[in-house]
Amino acid sequence: MLEGFADEILVGGRWRPGSGAVVETRSPATGEVLARLRGAGPADVDEAVRAGAAAAADPAWRDVPPHERARYLVRIADLIAERADDLAALQTADTGKSINETRALVASAQGTFRYFAGALETLEDALTPPRGPYLTMSVHEPIGVVGAITPWNSPIASDAQKIAPALAAGNAVVLKPAEWTPLVSLALGRLICDAGLPPGLLSVLAGPGRIVGDAIVRHPGVGKVSFTGGTSTGRTIGAAAAEKIMPVSLELGGKSPTIVFPDADREQALAGLLFGIFSSSGQSCIAGSRVFVHASIYDEVLDELVARAGKLRVGPGTDPATQVAPMVAHAHRDKVAAMVDRAVADGARLRCGGRIPEGGEYAEGAYYLPTILDGVPNGAAICQEEIFGPVLVALPFEDEEDLVAQANDTVYGLACGIWTADYRRAWRVARRIDAGTVWINTYKQFSISTPFGGFKESGLGREKGREGIRAYMRQKSLYWGLDENPLPWAT
Ligand code: NDP
Repeated sequence: MLEGFADEILVGGRWRPGSGAVVETRSPATGEVLARLRGAGPADVDEAVRAGAAAAADPAWRDVPPHERARYLVRIADLIAERADDLAALQTADTGKSINETRALVASAQGTFRYFAGALETLEDALTPPRGPYLTMSVHEPIGVVGAITPWNSPIASDAQKIAPALAAGNAVVLKPAEWTPLVSLALGRLICDAGLPPGLLSVLAGPGRIVGDAIVRHPGVGKVSFTGGTSTGRTIGAAAAEKIMPVSLELGGKSPTIVFPDADREQALAGLLFGIFSSSGQSCIAGSRVFVHASIYDEVLDELVARAGKLRVGPGTDPATQVAPMVAHAHRDKVAAMVDRAVADGARLRCGGRIPEGGEYAEGAYYLPTILDGVPNGAAICQEEIFGPVLVALPFEDEEDLVAQANDTVYGLACGIWTADYRRAWRVARRIDAGTVWINTYKQFSISTPFGGFKESGLGREKGREGIRAYMRQKSLYWGLDENPLPWAT
């Protein structure tokens, strides 16, 4: 058990045990229990939403001008920077991720709070052209209480991506982290309280999604839900939101194509492909999980990929040399392993990996070797289903038409990577691929100033960028009459 982790969640400004079931979180590296806490139940959701609504409507928050609201976000960012090492270590313990990656995620969370603090300095409303003797304005207002539901793969970064713009917009937030990984979200909650945010504006409700998440989505006091997670959960949440006529943002799954043309810089492409799929042990919505290689270079690229995948360092997240850390949970590892076994039984060729590594250091952890498969058409289940593990499937293509048809033949549309020296070709292909983000001669790079989100079943709405704040606001039109005479109709 982790030392000093209190059995408390944050409900409407108060730290206390929840009224729901016990949440137990385990180390993916060793299987040991890290923490046990009484999670939230529906009554806690109700209390959190009511407290959030009251805090958001309180003049002490509602009337704070944007540039002063920004000070809270800056303070939060400063505290994240101060506690960065502890936050990264905690996230590595809880998610299994490598320490280098969790440090980067903590830095990203810090940057997100700073970015939205900065954006508040320049947020503007519009005077619109009038069509008569009046002045017309379009203004943006907070929604009230926002529900934020996040997955287990990058908790602190995805929490920040929702909390920062939602607070910046003047809302209260009820956060529901994933059941497998609530610890860093709770630590972030403590830190935000320490930054002096008025009580009630943030709740952190650890607990099962189908109870706590569902209660947040359906609560009449919640005016918007921002969700990151799997597509099937997103569909359920979208349907519940439709019942309430409530806006939702959905950041969902992917099966992103990466493409290698014969003229690509080979070293850059190989490094990018390996990073794109095997970093985070493939547990990334934007993992480049389908690689399309031009038929003329297919065999040589595949041989080299397989050779290099076999040399990646698989080990515990605490070791800075680790490239492929354990997966988030043994149950998830076993699900990934079963998908690979099924693909092989259905005729896929296993080029490397496809098993749990052997040896003492791997005995207790949720490890799985970097795996490459090929020999199946793009219609095969392994090419269509999101695996969310260190599994790459390779496919050859003949020409651009064939490539675009295959790459777009998926229900997803989250990301794409193109490796080529021909910028005209990169432009043509990038514009024809159904994906919210396309990387050209790079992969899995992020900037908080650049909007992110999916096409098709990969999601709805955009996070990040200056418009990211608008996603947490309601637009209102104001007409100011300037005519000294009464309206002619009734005179
Ligand atoms: P899930 O959809 O299972 O869970 C995500 C969150 O939703 C968790 O907090 C979960 O709680 C909660 N939840 C589950 N059921 C409900 C429900 N009925 N109502 C409300 N909330 C619910 O996804 P995973 O945790 O498996 O995360 C992996 C998925 O996330 C992948 O598909 C991945 O592609 C996607 N993802 C997308 C990203 C993007 O930006 N597009 C980024 C990162 C991940 P609990 O944990 O308690 O079940």
